[in-house]
Amino acid sequence: MSDGQTYVADFLTNFRRKHEAEPEFIQSVEELVNSLGQLLDARPDLRSAGVLERITEPERSIQFRVTWVADDGSVHVNRGYRVQFSSVLGPYKGGLRFHPSVNLSILQFLGFEQIFKNSLTGLWLGGGKGGSDFDPKDKSDAEIMRFCQAFITELANYIGPDTDIPAGDIGVGSREIGYLFGWYKKLANEFHGSLTGKGTDWGGSNLRPEATGYGLLYFVDAMLRHRGDSMTGKSVVISGSGNVAQYAAQKAIEFGAKVLTMSDSNGYIIDNAGIDTAKLATILRIKNNDRGRIKQYLDFYPDAEYYEGSRPWKVAADIYLPCATQNEIEIADAQAMVANKPLLVAEGANMPTTPEAVTALQAAGILFAPAKASNAGGVAVSGLEMAQNSMRTAWTLEVVDDRLKEIMQNIHDKCAKHGASNSKYSSNTGSDIDYVSGANISGFLRVADAMLSQGIF
Ligand code: NDP
Repeated sequence: MSDGQTYVADFLTNFRRKHEAEPEFIQSVEELVNSLGQLLDARPDLRSAGVLERITEPERSIQFRVTWVADDGSVHVNRGYRVQFSSVLGPYKGGLRFHPSVNLSILQFLGFEQIFKNSLTGLWLGGGKGGSDFDPKDKSDAEIMRFCQAFITELANYIGPDTDIPAGDIGVGSREIGYLFGWYKKLANEFHGSLTGKGTDWGGSNLRPEATGYGLLYFVDAMLRHRGDSMTGKSVVISGSGNVAQYAAQKAIEFGAKVLTMSDSNGYIIDNAGIDTAKLATILRIKNNDRGRIKQYLDFYPDAEYYEGSRPWKVAADIYLPCATQNEIEIADAQAMVANKPLLVAEGANMPTTPEAVTALQAAGILFAPAKASNAGGVAVSGLEMAQNSMRTAWTLEVVDDRLKEIMQNIHDKCAKHGASNSKYSSNTGSDIDYVSGANISGFLRVADAMLSQGIF
């Protein structure tokens, strides 16, 4: 083994020992570090400065009690968190997730990923993530508001427009950002860009709701164009029916692709005629206005089919876009996909594909775009929202869309540069681009070089 590989192996052994109760965090660190052997061989300065040891330890993790009162007067206690992972490239930046599964391991994995995703955007953004084990499902609007106010009352002590700027994630959409921002503004007695994802008529950026889904499709489009191909006529399988999935579907339809499926945590629908713009509007009404379930699609389009308790990965398609949650593509799912000979899989959700599944897809020659590259559009437009807030201005939809396209193309090109078989630090020996190692090497290098410049601390 080379020096770099030995260093990586020793590092991972120690890391796994230290974090044995945090499987998601281990998974995300392994995913990054396994791409870095050749880079660390060539750059002993990164090894001697302890860059890996430092970047895998959050600068600060905050955990706090959130007490709120339900409509029936009962008292509830949840746990709130903010992992302020790295401020090397800018103020901590990353979403808040409200979901019963939230714990420190999941937030550390998400915060860790966020560092390199934000790095890839080329903007001045550090990495962080937060949230709560609060379950917004079946809560009244007033309960959601009281919870958000209790949550931000504590978090307000640690955030600010130049310190840490949270945004939405699973369970935190524009409604929750509104309640969080309103109460934060009251506590701080200041109106500034301390959260992103705000309404466009009170400080939000045009295109922020659409940005992750649109950005995903701009990335996929760039992958296809790089091979002289296009989205036109391609069949697309999408999981999820939340923010990312909805706008991924919308942009895929605009590109002339045929969207076959969408899902939620109960099951998936398949519409072999294709989900067109009108049908997608129905899904948005069901999910966003009525807070309903995806199976209600069949009330409007009875020719579609619904599969309870299943994921859509057995459905044959050219393109798979997992847009729901982490580890939703396991090895058996990947094998089912491989049998369908798709062109590519691009992650809309964060870490939706298990490492074994990624290996199986890549071994079968299927192009694979990792989340830190392909879903960076959301945080990129959050960065643009911060810029607009600082300038006290609002850019038009066209301006933001052009910036988003440019950022996603640049991310693609960085992945292509560092993930090609002839690239300096990649171990890729195949003929196609290895987007995983390209994204990891490129995202890491910018952070690591900035760490070296800023000294040891
Ligand atoms: P939403 O809450 O809007 O939607 C999440 C969707 O995923 C819902 O359809 C939900 O179904 C489904 N889902 C959630 N948990 C599970 C599960 N365990 N199994 C199956 N389906 C599930 O979230 P977003 O669309 O904002 O986020 C989706 C993913 O994208 C997350 O991984 C998030 O971290 C990532 N992401 C989001 C960004 C953004 O800008 N919003 C930016 C970058 C990444 P149900 O309705 O049943 O809960």
